[in-house]
Amino acid sequence: MGVIIAKSVNEACAVLAENPATTVLAGGTDLMVQANRGAHSLESVLDLSRIPELKNWSLEGSEMVLGAGISYTDLADPQIAALVPALTQAARTVGSPQIRNAGTLGGNLATASPAGDTIPVLVAMDAVLQLKSSTENREIAITEFITGVKTNALKPGEIIQSIKMPVFQGPQEFLKVGTRNAMVISVVSLALVTDFLGRKLRVGVGSVSPVPFRATAAEEFIAQEFDWETNSALSEKVINKFSELVADSTKPIDDHRGTADYRKHAVGVLAKRALERVCAGEKS
Ligand SMILES: Cc1cc2nc3c(=O)[nH]c(=O)nc-3n(C[C@H](O)[C@H](O)[C@H](O)COP(=O)(O)OP(=O)(O)OC[C@H]3O[C@@H](n4cnc5c(N)ncnc54)[C@H](O)[C@@H]3O)c2cc1C
Repeated sequence: MGVIIAKSVNEACAVLAENPATTVLAGGTDLMVQANRGAHSLESVLDLSRIPELKNWSLEGSEMVLGAGISYTDLADPQIAALVPALTQAARTVGSPQIRNAGTLGGNLATASPAGDTIPVLVAMDAVLQLKSSTENREIAITEFITGVKTNALKPGEIIQSIKMPVFQGPQEFLKVGTRNAMVISVVSLALVTDFLGRKLRVGVGSVSPVPFRATAAEEFIAQEFDWETNSALSEKVINKFSELVADSTKPIDDHRGTADYRKHAVGVLAKRALERVCAGEKS
């Protein structure tokens, strides 16, 4: 097996242009599990983990740009936590400290698992992925990037360079249900993001359909009911209706981690809990 350790994004793209069949490796926390199972043969590997530009992040006007090589540990940076708290909350729930040190945002997106914990947050934020090859730079909405269960829209020779998203003013929540408290894949996950300037509430849900998505009927309902002036508590009737609309928007399946009925119930509980928490929160 040949391993090339790229030192820049341009070098990585040049390697892939020459041999598009080369497997990209970031933290290895998904890829090596597949390789060890024999589900993925590795003839030549391109390691992105030593590319400094993939680990950077910046604030550009009202947008935040995160390098694809940012680890979950990096996402706990207090500055990132202040700008996009739901993403930090999601990152904190991933795996163990070892997995959080190695695993990256780009790897979570490229794996495109319905249970990927950063994905509901990025869906709620309407994140855009910046992809790069030796011949093209292009941007793609996260909902178009993830095309199905563990499939994505990357073309041969392309890597995810960065992830761009707006910075919203207002509280956010990420919640997940698993079979235990830590080191667990989501049975259901939900991100709730408020945008006080745009007077919108955005809900991303995971593990309740092949692809994480936004619960738009629930979003539209709650935007009308939410107290955008004082952010005061909502009535039980409104909270229950919101929870019901979120649950109704899902199409979960039965699997070894939970039944479809349990998932529908659990996502409704998460919606209710997240809404109660953002109502008790500050505006920024
Ligand atoms: C014990 C354990 C616990 C885990 N717990 C969780 C959890 O709680 N929540 C969760 O969401 N996930 C979890 N995972 C899964 C995994 O840690 C994440 O999905 C992680 O983000 C993968 O990132 P990586 O950098 O390790 O990717 P890698 O394993 O290096 O790569 C994964 C895939 O992405 C591709 N890829 C990586 N980076 C790029 C890029 N920049 N451009 C294009 N393609 C790229 C690779 O080619 C490969 O196909 C867990 C895994 C383990 C082993």
